[in-house]
Amino acid sequence: MKKARIGFPLLSFLISPYLMAADAAPAGKAVPCQKQSGFAAIVHGGAGDWDFKKKNEAAYRAAMEDVMRRLHKKLQAGGTALDAVTEAIVILEDDPLFNAGRGSIANSVGKHELDASIMDGTNLKAGAVAAVTRIKNPILAARSVMEQSEHVLLVAGGAEDFAAKHEIRMVKPEYFDVKEKKAFVKPPKNEEKFGTVGAAVLDRCGNLAAGTSTGGYDGKLPGRVGDSPIIGAGTYADNRSAAISATGHGEYFIRYAVAHDITARMRYQGQTLAQAADALIKDELVKAGGSGGIIAVDKDGRTHAAYNSKAMLHATVHADGKITVKFQ
Ligand code: ASP
Repeated sequence: MKKARIGFPLLSFLISPYLMAADAAPAGKAVPCQKQSGFAAIVHGGAGDWDFKKKNEAAYRAAMEDVMRRLHKKLQAGGTALDAVTEAIVILEDDPLFNAGRGSIANSVGKHELDASIMDGTNLKAGAVAAVTRIKNPILAARSVMEQSEHVLLVAGGAEDFAAKHEIRMVKPEYFDVKEKKAFVKPPKNEEKFGTVGAAVLDRCGNLAAGTSTGGYDGKLPGRVGDSPIIGAGTYADNRSAAISATGHGEYFIRYAVAHDITARMRYQGQTLAQAADALIKDELVKAGGSGGIIAVDKDGRTHAAYNSKAMLHATVHADGKITVKFQ
């Protein structure tokens, strides 16, 4: 990436372990932690009724392990949850194995319209972009909307103009027609790919953040926006409860305000993360016919994945460095 094209959010997440982490920052630059905690990260690569054994399991596993190793390093060095979420999603957006960024699925007229969002659990600030066709990393644009505008959600041309103005890297729409693949990937038919990507992180200061990025689903109508860029549906983070990223049939996740509902159950009903998420995903959504799942981490560093589809690719790492990658 050319230096001139590095926008503020990217630059900020690259350097911010030095700016923001209390114990890693040069004197005078630190934003001190309110409290010290263990850290934890959970990342997903989509949910669906795939028979994952037929897929290139090793390639997906390697991709997830790589992300988790990088997150562990970053968080251990005092990186923020927000930067960890951003970094995880940028990596997965750049990997054509996933239905986000580069590898995004096409809509019913063969075009790629991408959605992404990010949320900061420390202050409930959030940013999102939807139906964008020329932004290389929609998660960076979402972060820029959060940090450099007074808005939460920008769509289509307006989002692209905003991103370009804020030095987010733009590409031609053909960038998303992934023809050249990594050696280990057979040119995938859309339906063979794992999907949407997302991350939820607790950092060493006890702060939570979550983000989600997607190409949506196969054959969606032009202009359709899913749950991924909708705060409260596909993404939510609140230091008082949990950080959550969803994947699945977005219309249901919007209607059931899934990500926010989980945090609300925790706050108002005293449910644990697992109780709240399972009640919603494995009971309510099943009854409604909405397939998919969530990954989440709570304010005490407990990670959880809940899904009602056959498979959901997800990985965790905790402060001890132990990485797990699961397909089901
Ligand atoms: N939730 C995404 C959407 O509906 C798709 C997915 O997660 O696979 O756009």
